[in-house]
Amino acid sequence: MLTGSCLCGSVSYEVDAPAGPIVHCHCATCRKAHGSAFSSVCEVPRDKFRWTRGEALLRAYESSPGKFRRFCSQCGSQILADRVTRATVLLRLGCLDTPLSDRPRCHIWRSDSASWYDPKHDLPELPEGFVPTSPAA
Ligand SMILES: [Zn+2]
Ligand SMILES: [Zn+2]
Repeated sequence: MLTGSCLCGSVSYEVDAPAGPIVHCHCATCRKAHGSAFSSVCEVPRDKFRWTRGEALLRAYESSPGKFRRFCSQCGSQILADRVTRATVLLRLGCLDTPLSDRPRCHIWRSDSASWYDPKHDLPELPEGFVPTSPAA
């Protein structure tokens, strides 16, 4: 069982299936929708997915024909993407509350990547927030 919820907690879901392979999507529509370098996603079977709270608060943006990006109208969290003809829905993993032991398999849509992000660059990792004060040399 997987569970997930939005930032404000008004919308939540359950999935009675394991998570599919994890992918980081760099396409321009994911970057814009999420305001970030990429969106981390995995597929789950549509018939195993159900909303458990707040379904009436969902809004959707049809970013390409038949593809609906569903988000919480109160807090803006992108929760899933849904192609109406497919047997799966695409979970936005930032909203998943269940820990996963699987690790991301690949980056997709690198042809559309943000100019400032390259996944091959190793970066320092910090346990909490920190903003460098000087520009890169
Ligand atoms: Zn919300
Ligand atoms: Zn994408």
